[in-house]
Amino acid sequence: MADCLFCKIIAGQIPGTIVHQSDHIVAFKDTTPRAPTHVLVVPRRHIASLNDLGEEDDALVGEMVRTAAAIAKKNGHAEGGYRAVFNCNADAGQTVFHIHLHLLGGRKMTWPPG
Ligand code: AMP
Ligand code: ZN
Repeated sequence: MADCLFCKIIAGQIPGTIVHQSDHIVAFKDTTPRAPTHVLVVPRRHIASLNDLGEEDDALVGEMVRTAAAIAKKNGHAEGGYRAVFNCNADAGQTVFHIHLHLLGGRKMTWPPG
């Protein structure tokens, strides 16, 4: 999608620190990290929010979640713990309308989130 920040990062039109990519997904570092490890896992295809997922996306979402877990493990967070979270729409604080799985690790998390 032309005006989407994450589509532009995926297309290489604006810079991103990419840590993993496959045919279906890209993972890059968040530019305002909220934890020592803060990576965003996104589908290459533009999907605005969780509300726009269909049954045909089940494998894609599975790959996103497994990839977040693999990146967490690579960064040494598998045993200690980490958080993987999707924000959906305004009440959850979604600001970029191209779905992204936040992987946060390397510090103690609180619950519930604010
Ligand atoms: P959300 O609020 O869930 O929509 O998350 C959007 C995330 O994108 C925030 O954590 C931002 O810090 C992050 N972000 C914004 N611009 C960029 C960028 N150019 N590259 C990487 N991450 C970004
Ligand atoms: Zn997009």
